[in-house]
Amino acid sequence: MKELRILYLYPDILDLYGDIGNIKVITYRLEKRGFKAVVDTYSINDDKPDFESYDLIFAGGGADNEQQILSQDLIKYKEDIKKAVDKGVFFLLICGAYQLFGKYYKGVDGEIIPGLEIFDYYTEANPDRSKRCIGNIIIETNLDGEKVKVIGFENHCGQTYDIKSTFGQVLFGNGNKFNDSSEGYMTDNVIATYLHGPLLSKNPELTDFIIKKCLKRKYNEDVELEKLDDNFENLCRNQLFERFLENK
Ligand code: GLN
Repeated sequence: MKELRILYLYPDILDLYGDIGNIKVITYRLEKRGFKAVVDTYSINDDKPDFESYDLIFAGGGADNEQQILSQDLIKYKEDIKKAVDKGVFFLLICGAYQLFGKYYKGVDGEIIPGLEIFDYYTEANPDRSKRCIGNIIIETNLDGEKVKVIGFENHCGQTYDIKSTFGQVLFGNGNKFNDSSEGYMTDNVIATYLHGPLLSKNPELTDFIIKKCLKRKYNEDVELEKLDDNFENLCRNQLFERFLENK
């Protein structure tokens, strides 16, 4: 049976916004098609993972304090993770994890949390902690040449700058900064985004895009995924489009 090996980083620390749902959704959509999802986890004091042996590496969001706690541990693996990125392992990074793969994250109290410096962007929290980017967000991205709307929920103080290649254009919500036109960071094998939700639960097409990319890289073949019944997901999506886009 074909499988994807997934590494889930810091599930016990970056666990504030329910991003574990992304692991559940990707596992569900793999297994419904007869593929196996092998999910390993890593957190502080665990043995060093073999990052390059994974097909997908995932990390979720968290509060400034948790980011501070884990950043010293994460930085130990800077070169190993960079090698995995360069080798084409797919990275899905949500919010706090997104921030920590950049140059640094300057927290709301002004503390500098060093990032992995794998990507050039940097993040600085809005000093007024009462002002956060919070709410529903809809962006439009390009998946294999097709424009696709992606729905999520954002909750971040951090404002991210110097993005060379964005995940998508903001149709509703803030994005990388307050009232920004762009959101996230995306390359061929990286999606880093502020979208919680969990992200993949609201965006079946995006989930299947990631699955196909990982399978293609691993088995060197274009896999046609059997269509699943996404009526419920699409009903929710259409209601959100109507609520947030039509009345704009
Ligand atoms: N603590 C970071 C911020 O407030 C990240 C928040 C998150 O992961 N949702 O910007």
